[in-house]
Amino acid sequence: MDLKPYIKIVPDWPKPGIKFKDITPLMDNGEAFRYATDQIVEYAKERKIDLIVGPEARGFIVGCPVAYALGVGFAPVRKEGKLPRETVKVTYGKEYGDDVLTIHKDAVKPGQRVLITDDLLATGGTIEATIKLVEQLGGVVAGIAFLVELSYLDGRSKLDGYDVLTLIPYE
Ligand code: 5GP
Repeated sequence: MDLKPYIKIVPDWPKPGIKFKDITPLMDNGEAFRYATDQIVEYAKERKIDLIVGPEARGFIVGCPVAYALGVGFAPVRKEGKLPRETVKVTYGKEYGDDVLTIHKDAVKPGQRVLITDDLLATGGTIEATIKLVEQLGGVVAGIAFLVELSYLDGRSKLDGYDVLTLIPYE
């Protein structure tokens, strides 16, 4: 199934010059959303995943149905101040200033094989920070799955040595 028609490109959003890839038409279509989820489920099965971890907010949308299908848990990565219990955190550089991502300290058990999910790989900063959080807790990043990859931003260079699945690449 060709998923590209389900991604809408929105010019000049959220800022002039940005061509935002809107994944909501894919989620809005039962057949396309199930197909995309099934691809990631198959990928995860081959890698014997124990837990899914995804950054807010669209990493939840991609990861939760995969967790359900596999019968494994899902642990959210959130911006600082959003998770109610003890967390570990990572600060990472964004275009304008730094951002902080956190995860509950007990969310990942040492040695667990983790699949990280997000909707889109751009510069790779978000996923690099998520990898650090998982590894800080002793998890093994056994796979990383995205719906969309913007290859021209070279986020892959931050994911050297990791096993990565992308369903919809943009050159
Ligand atoms: P990165 O950290 O790789 O530069 O940016 C990826 C993060 O920003 C992802 O969590 C993603 O949700 C969001 N993001 C950046 N650009 C886009 C875009 O064009 N479309 C969507 N859906 N998300 C984007």
